[in-house]
Amino acid sequence: MVPSKSAYQRRARSSAQDLAHRTNGQGCKLASRIRREIVSALPPNLGETCTLFGSLRTQLQKEDGVHVSGMDDDAEQSKDLNILILEEDFQASQTRRMRWLTQICEYYPLSRLTQLGPDDISTLLEQYRQEESNKKASINDIPIPVLPTNRGTITLVGAGPGHPDLLTQTALNAINTADLVLADKLIPAEVLALIPRRTEIHIARKFPGNAEKAQQELQERGLAALRQGKSVIRLKQGDPYIFGRGGEEVLFFREQGFKVSVIPGLTSALTATALAGIPATHRGVADQLVICTGTGKKGALPQLPEYSKTKTAVFLMALHRIDEMVVALEKAGWGMDVPCAVVERASCRDQRVIRTRLRHVTRAIEVEGSRPPGLLVVGWACHVLNSDEKGDWIVEEGLDADFWFRSDLS
Ligand code: SAH
Repeated sequence: MVPSKSAYQRRARSSAQDLAHRTNGQGCKLASRIRREIVSALPPNLGETCTLFGSLRTQLQKEDGVHVSGMDDDAEQSKDLNILILEEDFQASQTRRMRWLTQICEYYPLSRLTQLGPDDISTLLEQYRQEESNKKASINDIPIPVLPTNRGTITLVGAGPGHPDLLTQTALNAINTADLVLADKLIPAEVLALIPRRTEIHIARKFPGNAEKAQQELQERGLAALRQGKSVIRLKQGDPYIFGRGGEEVLFFREQGFKVSVIPGLTSALTATALAGIPATHRGVADQLVICTGTGKKGALPQLPEYSKTKTAVFLMALHRIDEMVVALEKAGWGMDVPCAVVERASCRDQRVIRTRLRHVTRAIEVEGSRPPGLLVVGWACHVLNSDEKGDWIVEEGLDADFWFRSDLS
């Protein structure tokens, strides 16, 4: 005989109780893991959502002047939710609002409910009041709650150093589902090519002297789209928080009332070193790593890190002023015999590495020319795997691990 639905439910409940019972005391590690797994499967902000719905419930009860039993937050769905209630049933009329609230809690996806803020709750309530007064509805005719339209979402997405294969799966998901992509100027065409055709794209018009205006323009566009309920991504080279103005953008959108999500990306600082065969830390050679910029506020040269024999320093946005950089590094104690490498277009097919010492790096760039974007790595770690120098510098073209990259960039 096929067991009834309620028999199934009873069985499921008792086996869950069983499980809790059996792990109790004996397998507390397992019990805590089970708890962790259950919690991690739930959407975030559930606590806040419960508080919001709690206050909505209290407000409804106050307005109705009743306390409705059996409608507690932790009670199961009221069994009489779906039964016919007679028009003249006065008691039931008092519970109409509660039944409306229960509908929202029971039938809407949790993920949607957790996106609601206090304003949305007021909108919901207002919507209910209007429908109720318009219709003078019968007891069974509970207004169908329509959740406020999706609020816009904004996500800062790290696009990695350039090669599309180095995008994370999460970044790719975001690219595939966005309504609007606001991209950095540095994002290579191969990554932009992954954006679906239907998706609107805007690329930052950043050129010397226009950086601030371009940044503002990008943010304003994002804001306009968010207010239309769109899903916006800010596609940023490398990692959004490594010299990408990511923090500033979070603050901007937050001030406008939007929560910002961030998807980390592989920063060029760490992929360039790895792809150039430089172990940024190496036992007995390098035990610290600093990631710095060569371009401070208003374009000024920032204070550079002091020399330590076991420090690897990576300088972004520095190659255009390599002569000044070398002078400043010498002042900060870096000897001219310290090895360094210029890594350009890391991860791209035309990646280039120039291995040299601080003494020759300015001349090397003069002679070889530049291939932006590029960065400078300084420290003895540069010699761990590549110490044989022939001449003042050596130039290496192309990607060592080329065969692993699947996307065809040609
Ligand atoms: N958020 C980015 C950095 C932005 S600043 C990140 O995490 O990588 C821009 C600087 O990053 C460039 O001037 C250059 O120094 C460096 N850069 C970005 N992509 C690069 C690449 N593919 N190869 C070498 N340097 C790169």
